[in-house]
Amino acid sequence: MKIIKKGKFEKTWTKRYKCTGKGHGGGGCRAVLELTSDDLFLDYEYADSITIHFECPQCTSVTKIPTNDVPDKFREMIPRDYKDWKHNQERGAKK
Ligand SMILES: [Zn+2]
Repeated sequence: MKIIKKGKFEKTWTKRYKCTGKGHGGGGCRAVLELTSDDLFLDYEYADSITIHFECPQCTSVTKIPTNDVPDKFREMIPRDYKDWKHNQERGAKK
C-alpha cells in the first residue's frame, strides 16, 4: 500500500514478517511480507487476551504476530476481528 497523503499519525507502522501460519497450525508459504497496521486484525484467544494476526495475500494463511510488536497508538486502529478487517479491505478496494 502506498500513502498518498499521511493521516493524523506522523509515522506509519510497518514491519516485515514471514508467512508461517504461526498460531494457526502452521502451513504458511514462507513469503516475506511488509505489513502496515491496515493489514492487521485482532482476535481474542482468551476472554481478556488480545492477539494480533494477519492474512497472507498469497496463500491466505493466517499468522499470529507478537502483540508487543505493534505500538499502542496503532493497536487502537486495528479491526477487532477478521470479519471487520475483511469488510474494511473490501470497502477499500472499491474506492
Ligand atoms: Zn503465505
